[in-house]
Amino acid sequence: MAEASTHEGGCTCRAVRYRMESGPLFVHCCHCRWCQRETGASFALNALIEADRVRLLQGEVEVIDTPSESGKGQKISRCPTCRIALWSNYGGAGDTVRFVRVGTLDDPDRLPPDVHIFTASKQPWVVLPAATPAVAEYYKAAELWPKESLERRAALQARARSR
Ligand SMILES: [Zn+2]
Ligand SMILES: [Zn+2]
Repeated sequence: MAEASTHEGGCTCRAVRYRMESGPLFVHCCHCRWCQRETGASFALNALIEADRVRLLQGEVEVIDTPSESGKGQKISRCPTCRIALWSNYGGAGDTVRFVRVGTLDDPDRLPPDVHIFTASKQPWVVLPAATPAVAEYYKAAELWPKESLERRAALQARARSR
């Protein structure tokens, strides 16, 4: 895997450090009210990546069961000391895909959104760039993800079935 496509990050107190061992499958900028509440801000920026491509370099995470809009819940992995959230897994997908919080990366500028979702509840002052796809709610991966990411997703699904 190319060194250039890895990304390192961590929490605020630096007890937890991790590395994304490749680029993400896709990057979501979510404008739903749940993400607004969880971040205390206007949206969440999540890099979706296979769980086994996120390696802990230092420390451990504490996994907190948290309600989600779908009702299936999400597990938020936080630093046990400073409580910063590093990534989530959502109920539907289990722990095969992690939603890494882009703001915890050392260089978050490298992962801008690939899509804006749930723009129906976007805060009105947030102005979206015309060049990035934006949907009122959700979308189908087959319509927006690059071919390589769809292949990676198919590999994940095949592995899940063979378990
Ligand atoms: Zn910490
Ligand atoms: Zn959301």
